[in-house]
Amino acid sequence: MVQRVDLLMLSPLHGEPDPDGADCVACGRCCHHPPHTVSLREEDEARLSAEQLHRLTVLMDHPPYFRFVRNEGTRCGALDLSDPEQYPCAIYLARPTGCREVEPGSPCCMQARALGHLGESVLFKRSDRTR
Ligand code: SF4
Ligand code: SF4
Repeated sequence: MVQRVDLLMLSPLHGEPDPDGADCVACGRCCHHPPHTVSLREEDEARLSAEQLHRLTVLMDHPPYFRFVRNEGTRCGALDLSDPEQYPCAIYLARPTGCREVEPGSPCCMQARALGHLGESVLFKRSDRTR
């Protein structure tokens, strides 16, 4: 079976974002990344319901059995895409720890805005996610 790949890429954004996150929903660049980027720790899993874990996450089928947020192509599967121009996180209050560490205006944020997607400066990738 051929896996559907969403080739839609977002354009780079220039300039500093609002430090309080007022620009984030219209930006969403750090929520665009390859599959198996956003990992969940035990405390992250505890914030999600069983239905959300089933629908929005995927568990590695081999040790160390890390759990990740699902992707839809290049987009995080937890994005609410009901408005094509907006990128709110559907689980914002329960979002994983790694997502909370991406501060507006941080190096990671600025790299994501410059690229149009999450870059390599992100700190929360699992080191063996590609196994
Ligand atoms: S890249 Fe920066 S401005 Fe854009 S959504 Fe992420 S934290 Fe917010
Ligand atoms: S879980 Fe939410 S904040 Fe984290 S990458 Fe996905 S949409 Fe963005």
